[in-house]
Amino acid sequence: MNETERQAKVSLTDPVERLAALRHEFGEHGGVNMSIEASTTFTVMEAGTMPEIFQGRLGPDDGGCFLYGRHFNPTVYVLGRQLAAMEGAEAGYCTGSGLGAISSALLGTLNQGDHVVAADTLYGGTWAMLAEFLPQKCGIETTFVDISNPNAVAAAMTPRTKVVYVEALSNPTLRVANLPTIADIAHAHDAKLMVDNTFTPLAITPVEHGADIVVHSLTKFVNGASDFIAGAICGTADYISSLMDLHVGPLMILGPTMDPQVAHSISLRIPHLPIRMTEHARRAQIFAERLESHGIAVSYPGLKSHPDHHLFRDIGRPEYGFGGLLTIDAGTRKCAEALMDYLQNQEGFGFMAVSLGYFDTLMSCSASSTSSELSDEALRAAGIAPGLIRMSIGYTGSVEQRWNQLESALRQVSLL
Ligand SMILES: *Cc1c(COP(=O)(O)O)cnc(C)c1O
Repeated sequence: MNETERQAKVSLTDPVERLAALRHEFGEHGGVNMSIEASTTFTVMEAGTMPEIFQGRLGPDDGGCFLYGRHFNPTVYVLGRQLAAMEGAEAGYCTGSGLGAISSALLGTLNQGDHVVAADTLYGGTWAMLAEFLPQKCGIETTFVDISNPNAVAAAMTPRTKVVYVEALSNPTLRVANLPTIADIAHAHDAKLMVDNTFTPLAITPVEHGADIVVHSLTKFVNGASDFIAGAICGTADYISSLMDLHVGPLMILGPTMDPQVAHSISLRIPHLPIRMTEHARRAQIFAERLESHGIAVSYPGLKSHPDHHLFRDIGRPEYGFGGLLTIDAGTRKCAEALMDYLQNQEGFGFMAVSLGYFDTLMSCSASSTSSELSDEALRAAGIAPGLIRMSIGYTGSVEQRWNQLESALRQVSLL
């Protein structure tokens, strides 16, 4: 059975089945793991085919061959196919960072004078790109709206709106985007829905709900060990190839490609991503429930009290839970800092560090770190309180050991 036949047999709605149906890449000597293709350039066997390959008419899948590492590298290509399978997209392309993916995806879709409608709670770097970089450098304006309000999204659309941009689960407010509704609004205006799915790989598959383009920071859960910066773009095959156009394709011209050594390492972590996501979410759910029963101001989409609990249940996959992040509002920045201090330096519960998806717990105070690009006004509008601690729940140690550490630190700062 070839890959097309195998793909045809699997349920198109299950990312794990799609991943398992991909052709297995053996190593050069028959190793169970693929080799790292460490070449930046590739030998063309017949002189006449070089122009065809160069113009992208004879790719590695059409009887041509690889040409140059900034276009395509076989090792990086494999990771791109894995991510496309995970996201249920036709094609995927890996970049050197999440922001490299987001900037290329945006610049590949937008022209000077175009307009974006975006969620008002976004990763700080993305917010800066839309609020400051794109207007200043490219004349592309963005209107930020509360995407939990479909009327606000619809009202912000203009004839020049080409992209509606959201995070499937917003950072750090953990609001779930109503993707089917937002996709309908975008498509009614001939705009593309672009979704950053960094927080919810496997748990939410945006393409199933109408997303046209999915971007990732692979630096987080997909990687899982906080050792590489990486990103990816998934979409239709035509879209991905448009991003590689030799004249105006941002993936070619801006050159954000991924290193094959990085692609190799991340590729070997895709098979245990489902296990990791399940355990991050299982522990986050336990802690969130216990914190809530102790009267702590906790937010987690797995709690019935969360405003988007039902929405997440409707569009998400229950077997992966409700994500690995929760937030605690400690009231003030001072109290938040004291709590994180105790948790790290007295209890050994986790680390004060930005980022997420690590095997140990990472904690940061969003307003003064990963969301500090936002103005005070934007922080208020987004509901990011000064004492809000974002926790990416790890899975080392035992649940009870970690809970005791958390409880003890909360007592130290008089939150319990
Ligand atoms: C980290 C992050 C990014 C940026 O990714 P890098 O890999 O750091 O460039 C974008 N979006 C979200 C939601 C993130 O968490």
